[in-house]
Amino acid sequence: MTISVAIIGSGPSAFYTVDALAKSGAACQIDMIERLPAPFGLIRYGVAPDHESTRKVARNFDKLARGGALKFFGNVEVGRDVSMDDLRGMYDAVVLAVGAPHDRKLGISGQDKKNVFGSADFVGWYNGHPDFRDLNPDLKVKAAAVVGVGNVALDVARLLVRSREELSETDMPDYAVEAFANSSVTDVYLFGRRGPAEAAFTMGELREMGELDLASPVIDAAQLPANVDHLPEAERRVPAKLVEMLRAFSAKPADKPKRVHFRFYSAPKEIHGGERVAGIRIERTKVEGGRAVGTGQFEDIACGLVVAAIGYRSPKIDGAVFDDGKGLYTNTDGRVAPGLYAVGWAMRGPSGVIGSNKIDGQMVGGHIVKDCAVPGGTGPKPGRSALEQALAKRGSKITNYDDWIALDAEEVKRARPKSPRGKFTSVGEMLRFLKKA
Ligand code: NAP
Repeated sequence: MTISVAIIGSGPSAFYTVDALAKSGAACQIDMIERLPAPFGLIRYGVAPDHESTRKVARNFDKLARGGALKFFGNVEVGRDVSMDDLRGMYDAVVLAVGAPHDRKLGISGQDKKNVFGSADFVGWYNGHPDFRDLNPDLKVKAAAVVGVGNVALDVARLLVRSREELSETDMPDYAVEAFANSSVTDVYLFGRRGPAEAAFTMGELREMGELDLASPVIDAAQLPANVDHLPEAERRVPAKLVEMLRAFSAKPADKPKRVHFRFYSAPKEIHGGERVAGIRIERTKVEGGRAVGTGQFEDIACGLVVAAIGYRSPKIDGAVFDDGKGLYTNTDGRVAPGLYAVGWAMRGPSGVIGSNKIDGQMVGGHIVKDCAVPGGTGPKPGRSALEQALAKRGSKITNYDDWIALDAEEVKRARPKSPRGKFTSVGEMLRFLKKA
């Protein structure tokens, strides 16, 4: 029997699930359903534009798609073009590979003021995501605050101080290159609510902060612990290296025209200003039992832009049980309900690296083969033909993988000198180019 599988999403977790199914030896018909006309999700719209090498993994995904392992249904939104219940009626297995594209909220007063953004929106803006191209952040401000000390916070801080030359070699859309290159930002403050030993960023990303053309990292050596012996022994290696690198930063002069200030033991308490942000109040903390505890000492830092890079949430989809507290689908090792699965960030929350999705894909691919390919399993259901009929009846304007190949070629053609591509940044523009609108 052929197992019919619908995968919702087209980022790394979706493609690694396809890969696992393709390698399982089971006969599968796999359909990939993507809300946007173009594939690759986080690779295209989340990875920092100055980290082009991280995007190379898309070449493997492209090979899978061109090799016929799946059929791509772009510009199809579950909940708009087809319901979750309908999909589950059509396919033996439905996989939620929708990532975590929404911001966690800071939950402090002033968070809705103008020029305060979550990193999902801000990153989407500088990456040309159609939902965020009109975000229009005002970068004519001298100081910016970035809340959180994970890799996304470093991405945002780094791009805020990159030079025009550095940015124009990326695939960042022109509007974002212009905004960054003409910005007045000279000082970026990164706030970690715990200490340097508890920072979430990784070595390679921290190292880059010391290699920027225009900006120096700044850290007060008094914030750095003499050692990381307070951590469990098995967890000391990476934090010890991070602290050492921060120590090396602290010993160097901040002699470049811009600065990225690392401020640890600093929990955001309030964003002040009028209609728009004028500053952020932080409370000094100490770390007790691994948690940040307020000390009652406050500091106000003037800034005209705040980006909260404090983690993400998956989107809710009617028909799949959602854990509101965690911001992901309630699941046991990727099983959400009979015939319904979750992978990647939709399964385990926004953590790990792109390769972590490979393990998820293998696990959930294995579940699908085990659950659906046995006599008495849930299938077989009609699969692709039923989806195609439903979309045709609705008049949905679908993009297929050949359409993506055409969009890709055009993007490469329009690229600025030294840039890999000039992205389409609106759905309408993509559909018009494909003569589908
Ligand atoms: P993250 O690594 O979980 O970091 C989130 C940061 O926000 C932490 O410092 C966290 O502090 C802080 N935070 C959370 N809630 C907060 C609050 N209410 N107030 C103040 N601070 C708060 O998340 P991320 O940076 O969004 O990255 C997501 C995943 O993508 C990570 O696995 C990351 O490594 C990966 N990623 C990798 C790369 C790369 O490899 N180059 C680039 C981007 C992202 P606590 O620790 O105290 O909670």
